[in-house]
Amino acid sequence: MHAHNAGQVARVSCGHCNIKRFYKPLELREVIGNVTIERVRAKVRCEKCGRKESMSAELFHPVGQELVAIRFRRLVEIRWERRVIWRDES
Ligand SMILES: [Zn+2]
Repeated sequence: MHAHNAGQVARVSCGHCNIKRFYKPLELREVIGNVTIERVRAKVRCEKCGRKESMSAELFHPVGQELVAIRFRRLVEIRWERRVIWRDES
């Protein structure tokens, strides 16, 4: 997700659930890193069915009314949770 993709929209969909979600490329980059849309596709998992294999992802330039109609899934927060791991001495 490069900065020049900023005017574009990332569409991530699950073919199994027939769900489409729209993301801002810069927000996907925050989460997944500076990777290509192909890598995004390989990394995402459907939030509904949990599958990876039926996902698709592409970047596109919305035109006219399309942009107005898109409801983005916005990044709210990236939470780094504290995990405590114990080990018994051997
Ligand atoms: Zn699904």
